[in-house]
Amino acid sequence: MGNESINWDKLGFDYIKTDKRFIQTWKNGEWQAGTLTEDNVLHISEGSTALHYGQQCFEGLKAYRCKDGSINLFRPDQNAARMQRSCGRLLMPQVPTEAFIDACKQVVRANERFIPPYGSGGALYLRPFVIGTGDNIGVRTAPEFIFSVFAIPVGAYFKGGLVPHNFQISGYDRAAPHGTGAAKVGGNYAASLLPGSEAKKAGFADSIYLDPATHSKIEEVGSANFFGITRDNKFITPKSPSVLPGITRMSLIELAKTRLGLEVVEGEVFIDQLDIFQEAGACGTAAVISPIGGIEYQGKLHVFYSETEVGPITQKLYKELTGVQSGDVEAPEGWIVKV
Ligand SMILES: *Cc1c(COP(=O)(O)O)cnc(C)c1O
Repeated sequence: MGNESINWDKLGFDYIKTDKRFIQTWKNGEWQAGTLTEDNVLHISEGSTALHYGQQCFEGLKAYRCKDGSINLFRPDQNAARMQRSCGRLLMPQVPTEAFIDACKQVVRANERFIPPYGSGGALYLRPFVIGTGDNIGVRTAPEFIFSVFAIPVGAYFKGGLVPHNFQISGYDRAAPHGTGAAKVGGNYAASLLPGSEAKKAGFADSIYLDPATHSKIEEVGSANFFGITRDNKFITPKSPSVLPGITRMSLIELAKTRLGLEVVEGEVFIDQLDIFQEAGACGTAAVISPIGGIEYQGKLHVFYSETEVGPITQKLYKELTGVQSGDVEAPEGWIVKV
């Protein structure tokens, strides 16, 4: 496929086979040499633990084309560190930070023609993952592993500006109190497919999960983190061992404090105290910020700022973070790695 066939303005979030991907295997107790390949199909043992026991984890990050033509990776060291924690939780070998970043850079360079142009709002999305492979049947850690990184061009999540969506509190739990909620593992996503589809059938963007122990506090918004802006201008985001520590969340915390001068609280967001918020949103790599119009709970819709308009603080946060990512706004030390 040539670039001529990519309509940058129409790009969504769909799988596209790009030119090259990085692949590396772990065998005989160590990582073997990694390589770029054109082959986008994995040939693995039918006994692979990734297929039966969910021994796998993944990451998501983006490469951005800047105004001056250079290419930015946003905080890849944080993705490397999180993947190491996910691997540790599932008894998989860790990929060292430098090797992780190097693999990402190789994949970006090899697929440079797929990076959406500066100003299009798109980016090259990178999907690193580790899976347990090799002949096996018992519930134990795999004899072999694969670490791979592939890339797809993705469009701006919101074309023509941010739009709020309504969400529904789910009756299902996404993760157990001391389970794998904080690890970016496929099992958590498998568990979220049914609640997500029920929320969509009911006309909502996605489901919101409450804390699994007491079901009284907001934890996650689909596969993104929650934040709210209180009426006295505090940025509040849930703190819990079963919340996935998002890099967008971590970055917004920093920018809210240092650039917007907001007080930041990592704490509890009680579902029966949503009145304290003037604005609310979901945050993650895919959309950066997805404003929350309203939340349905026990048959009632609680509206924050508006169901159709986006609050000013949410807009400021979005502008600041996307500016940092694309190189238009000065980044805090260490946030940008040039490819
Ligand atoms: C990946 C993910 C997020 C967002 O993390 P980012 O690093 O900001 O992309 C939030 N919640 C869940 C459950 C996730 O899997």
